[in-house]
Amino acid sequence: AEFRLSDFEQLRVLGHGNGGTVYEVRHRRTAALYALKIVRTDAADASLRRQVYREVDILRRAAGSDHVVRFHAALPTPSGDVALLLENMNGGSLDALLRRRGRRPIPELALAAVARQALLGLAEIHSRQIVHRDIKPANLLINAAGEVKLADFGVGKVLRRSLDPCDSYVGTCAYMSPERFDPVTYGGDYDPYAADVWSLGLAMLELHRGHFPLLPEGSRPDWMALMVAICFGEAAGAVLEGTASGEFRGFIECCLQKESGKRWSVAELLSHPFVAGADRPESERALRDFLTDNSD
Ligand code: ADP
Repeated sequence: AEFRLSDFEQLRVLGHGNGGTVYEVRHRRTAALYALKIVRTDAADASLRRQVYREVDILRRAAGSDHVVRFHAALPTPSGDVALLLENMNGGSLDALLRRRGRRPIPELALAAVARQALLGLAEIHSRQIVHRDIKPANLLINAAGEVKLADFGVGKVLRRSLDPCDSYVGTCAYMSPERFDPVTYGGDYDPYAADVWSLGLAMLELHRGHFPLLPEGSRPDWMALMVAICFGEAAGAVLEGTASGEFRGFIECCLQKESGKRWSVAELLSHPFVAGADRPESERALRDFLTDNSD
């Protein structure tokens, strides 16, 4: 279907990103709800706008997967910005969920459902030669049905790099794999997909602990501290000593191998006991329960 901006009415703000604001909107005729992400582009900079559309093509190519946020249209706005019409993921990001819950860790059983769905999303985009490069809790979105989907690849990344290099650099490099800092030591036969596996492992560890796991709680990340923690920090599983099941610790260790060649692939991780062993309906129910639990 052809969409125009005037077909939609604005309901509320869903979130703010580096690129602009995301609104919940309703299609007037069908009453269907969508997310509308306004990406500010410098109207004077035609090359920047071309870049947005090039990235939109990547988003389109990645769509069609059950675990990638569906992309419907890129619409020009009167002010010269671009509005991306997306599937409405009404549970928001897992990062926001964590903050809303006072950083209460997500239980392992529920995390198994998160990991499985995020891995399925990665399998889907990797099979289309797309590397996400920015996997983190803020880019894993959830809906009321407990479906977890990958969001914000390509588009956000290119825009952030060109619009706001300093500010976004730290945010992005917090989840960057060792081989992206030091390809000689950690890269081996460079596999670009392995970097997404590292980031997913780190995101899962963060959701399990309630806060970013590589730096002291509340500390301001700077590039040097991050690089040191990522490349020279103790083995990832060590922080889980005594606080996690053997399956979860094993899963995290498979994702967070510093040498990219030793890291498990997405396909291997999908059959890891932490993901494959957990009863699927039960872990999906645990995730929905965490989502709706208002006890604190
Ligand atoms: P940016 O790329 O500018 O960082 P994001 O795409 O990360 O922006 O969006 C910012 C916030 O808006 C997210 O953290 C999330 O809370 C919300 N959001 C983004 N896309 C959607 C969506 N499709 N459905 C619901 N909420 C969304």
